[in-house]
Amino acid sequence: MSGEPQADCLFCKIVAGEIPATVVRKTERTLAFRDIHPQAPTHILVIPHVHYPNAAALAAAEPLIAAELLTEAAAVAADEGIDAYRLIFNTGAGAGQTIFHAHVHVLGGKPLREGMV
Ligand code: 5GP
Ligand code: ZN
Repeated sequence: MSGEPQADCLFCKIVAGEIPATVVRKTERTLAFRDIHPQAPTHILVIPHVHYPNAAALAAAEPLIAAELLTEAAAVAADEGIDAYRLIFNTGAGAGQTIFHAHVHVLGGKPLREGMV
């Protein structure tokens, strides 16, 4: 896999502008947009333009872009005015991953429960 757009991928279609999304930040390599079913007052997804099935595959192939997901996640939080946030990378259907294009969830805007889940 070398990052090409996949015809059956919802997030590739959002990157291509074929499906609308509420975009909050964009760089040459990443896109950040609001989750359609927010789980917190701020719930934004940061994705790479390139298609990899999960964050680890992205990091193995494109480590600089994987790092940019994190710096963009921090920028999203700053833009939203939140100083505490949680980043979630669901990996595998058993962990709740439903879209197999790498993405990080940025959650915040309310006190988050302590703990991992
Ligand atoms: P996952 O469960 O794969 O970690 O996260 C996928 C996320 O994508 C879910 O939180 C889901 O609400 C969100 N999502 C699914 N379809 C759409 C869509 O068409 N637009 C947007 N903005 N988010 C979506
Ligand atoms: Zn994709």
